[in-house]
Amino acid sequence: MAGDGGGNTGSPAPPFRPHRLTWAALLARVFAFDFTVCPACGGRLRLIAALTDPVSVSRYLQGVGLPTEPPPLIPPKAPPQQSWYFAT
Ligand SMILES: [Zn+2]
Repeated sequence: MAGDGGGNTGSPAPPFRPHRLTWAALLARVFAFDFTVCPACGGRLRLIAALTDPVSVSRYLQGVGLPTEPPPLIPPKAPPQQSWYFAT
């Protein structure tokens, strides 16, 4: 057969398997939730843009009514008591 590199042994070609899974497939595997399904209508969601510029991200968040600043950090707590102190 032309174009098979001469290595045709007569066995059928293995099915095509992608080397990498999509982000949606990985998230679905980890969280058992399909992130590509719209929760409102059940339609298929697709990525249309990725915002990386801080000014653009802030403008988008303002436009959809979300806070543009991260929530305040909670002050650290002391670690739990690791040992008991006994008077001797
Ligand atoms: Zn929808």
